[in-house]
Amino acid sequence: MSNGHPPSFPNTNPMAFFVQLRAFLLSRDGQGYPAYKRLDRRYQFDRFELFIDHVQGDPFAEPSRLRVSLSSSAAGLPPEYLVSEARRRAVADFLNRAFLAALESRERVRGSGKSGELRVLRPGQEVLARTSVLVFPDGAVEARFRAGLPARGRTILGQEAARLLCEDIPAAVDAALLYSSLDPAALRIHLETVEDARALRDQLAERGLVAFVADGANLPRRSGVDDRPLAADRSVTFRSPKSLRVTLRVPNAGDVTGMGIPAGVTLLVGGGFHGKSTLLRAIERGVYDHVPGDGREKVVTIPSAVKVRAEDGRRVAGTDISNFINHLPGNEDTRHFYTENASGSTSQAASIAEALELGTGCLLLDEDTSATNLLIRDARVQALVAREHEPITPFIDRVRQLHQLHGVSTIMVVGGAGDYFDVADTVIAMREYYPYEVTAEAREVARRFPTQRRSEADPWRPLAERIPQPESIDPSRGRHDVKVQARGTERVRFGEEDIDLSAVEQLVETAQARAIAHALAWGRGRFLDGHRPLRDALEAMMEVIEEQGLDAIDDRRMGEYAAFRLYELGAALNRLRSLRVGRA
Ligand code: ADP
Ligand code: MG
Repeated sequence: MSNGHPPSFPNTNPMAFFVQLRAFLLSRDGQGYPAYKRLDRRYQFDRFELFIDHVQGDPFAEPSRLRVSLSSSAAGLPPEYLVSEARRRAVADFLNRAFLAALESRERVRGSGKSGELRVLRPGQEVLARTSVLVFPDGAVEARFRAGLPARGRTILGQEAARLLCEDIPAAVDAALLYSSLDPAALRIHLETVEDARALRDQLAERGLVAFVADGANLPRRSGVDDRPLAADRSVTFRSPKSLRVTLRVPNAGDVTGMGIPAGVTLLVGGGFHGKSTLLRAIERGVYDHVPGDGREKVVTIPSAVKVRAEDGRRVAGTDISNFINHLPGNEDTRHFYTENASGSTSQAASIAEALELGTGCLLLDEDTSATNLLIRDARVQALVAREHEPITPFIDRVRQLHQLHGVSTIMVVGGAGDYFDVADTVIAMREYYPYEVTAEAREVARRFPTQRRSEADPWRPLAERIPQPESIDPSRGRHDVKVQARGTERVRFGEEDIDLSAVEQLVETAQARAIAHALAWGRGRFLDGHRPLRDALEAMMEVIEEQGLDAIDDRRMGEYAAFRLYELGAALNRLRSLRVGRA
């Protein structure tokens, strides 16, 4: 199966041995860099096999792609650590972190350019499936990384190369990928933490909840650019209000008590700086599992929760925003709305409609990052600006329909728009970082101060289907059929286009953005075929990835992808400026 990438090397070469690798490298000392291209593809070491999947063209290019593969008996993982997806993912994540540390401690300058660089994916606070370290159900382990093959200028440094490949990399493998070298207690905690988070999340739906925040959780982060937890002595630990307290049972930690957020419409209210957005952000991230010590290990959200925000200037390709915006001046078609430059309200309406199109079960909104005119038209504005002159049906008039007719919940931070008290099922006030349930008080306030606004909701119109056109999804650039690149989680270069992902707040690792870009390149034509509606196509892609792993999107055995959700895949496609869609 070709996906537009050059084919990977077939592993059919006769096996070479470790001693031959050393001899080869020493014998190439002083030769020109292209001599590295004559490396064999596969070498047998004592405890593992080393695969050389791609050799860089010169010492300044991206370092060479290498892979080590350990049999289950070499890796030595306890069989009970392999029995579930959650356990294997946790073990792989743990090994990834250990391998990163082991490579870092052995990395040094070994010549010009990137000579001696050692790279493997750097995981953040979340425990994601990644192609950097794979743990197979039978206990075999594979780690994929990059190494800069040493040279001075373009002259091979054979001694350095032999030390790198035959001593330092094997030492890193021994230190990080053998069960016997790891801290067994730390690994067990890692695995139990992930398994418990999974178990908590799996119970939400049956308990009628959309999110759960455990007592004792530590939600605030060190800074806007540092996702590690705020130091315990500066942070207020989460404590659930009695009325929302629930107890869930998990396999390792036993009974866990915390705040359950019921399905329906939930408001997070409170004064500025009292921790509303911090709580919402923890809930956004609750679709992922977290590492021990993160503080959000037991903060979980249903897997289909999607954060939506205003995003001026975004592209919109044929999205049906008509439930929120209709009768635009100039009579633009809002059932199939195109713009190169959405306003705050149209961008957020589009993001909401797209999340619904993909089947979200819970919308997450923060007033701080929302378009006010999409959220609310209060009585005074209604009196001054007639309904006929206002294209927007505000979210306040849709939020109950969404829940009652479509089972879609909303959790929303409200600092100023008290009209929402009328439409809320649950109101949680944050006061000095502690939550209090104030639903009854909010109802009482709503009774005493009627808003006098009229509901402007007309019946909900089923969303119009969109069929992405494959020729509008072009990952090629110059002589490359597929040229895509992630720059952090904020931006992806896709062929000639830039996809701005800065408002897609539930992307947490660059490796996810990179994987999404490659997945779109892979899916185009195959699934995004000009016939299937967007949701069908993306769901079919996710299904294949689920079954075959992330290697499905790229047959080169790349080590630099991390798992992503349907919603972020769709968010990226929806932001591709060249995208065109047909109608069903
Ligand atoms: P709001 O959205 O209510 O205005 P934020 O969530 O932005 O408030 O929080 C305001 C500040 O308080 C932020 O700097 C945040 O990191 C900090 N903070 C939030 N929750 C806690 C907590 N539980 N303990 C300590 N500091 C917190
Ligand atoms: Mg805020």
